[in-house]
Amino acid sequence: MLKSDKLERLELYKDRNTQVFLNKFLSEEISELEPVYDPKVGYHYPIVEAIVGSVQDAEAFLNRLYNAGILERRLYDKIIYCPKCGSANVSVRYCCAYCKSFDIQRSALIEHVKCGYMDVEENYKKGNKLVCPKCHEELKKPDVDYRRAGTWCTCKDCKKSFDIPVVAHFCRDCHTAFTFEDAVIKDVYAYTLREDAKEEAARGWVIIAPIRDFLLENGFEVESPAFLKGKSGANHMFDIVAYEGK
Ligand SMILES: [Zn+2]
Ligand SMILES: [Zn+2]
Ligand SMILES: [Zn+2]
Repeated sequence: MLKSDKLERLELYKDRNTQVFLNKFLSEEISELEPVYDPKVGYHYPIVEAIVGSVQDAEAFLNRLYNAGILERRLYDKIIYCPKCGSANVSVRYCCAYCKSFDIQRSALIEHVKCGYMDVEENYKKGNKLVCPKCHEELKKPDVDYRRAGTWCTCKDCKKSFDIPVVAHFCRDCHTAFTFEDAVIKDVYAYTLREDAKEEAARGWVIIAPIRDFLLENGFEVESPAFLKGKSGANHMFDIVAYEGK
């Protein structure tokens, strides 16, 4: 944990929203905050929104806690947004490597082991059976009579064949088709409370806050956190410092 972030953390622990949120971890109501998917807004964090208000505020709030070293995060997913309207309601299209049409047929490639003939599955189909188009023998046992040798795509528009399709996207809201190059891609995280922050947070308001309130009620001036200059002239940070009121 960075010492330089400690002040920021202590500030945050005094914040009511942070307290409500961190309490959910401390009380074990949640162990990890996962984002929830919504086709309209994409990923969001309803638990946090209930505390801080909007989707944007929730994101800023989580970023602040992460940057201060209170939360840890792991990459949960990547989300694709439409570059034109910003919608997250985006589909994936597998397209022809030649003409970019998404009207392609994906087939399984099958090899007849005995004669070595290879073709797409449809060409072996005879009713419910698989029959080799070359030697006319029936293929019965997978991995013995025949083996699957990957996939093969055929474009229904230009009729060409290829093994790896090109990925493209389609916005279901504004109907724009766009490529990987233009896609707006955002990292989405799941959050946990850092072990060391757990203790620090608990001390921050479970222990310090009542002491602070008690001292204030009894006429002390209180600073928390506070800096005092030591004999060496260096500044030292204290969780709480109380002065006798005048
Ligand atoms: Zn769009
Ligand atoms: Zn094509
Ligand atoms: Zn054959």
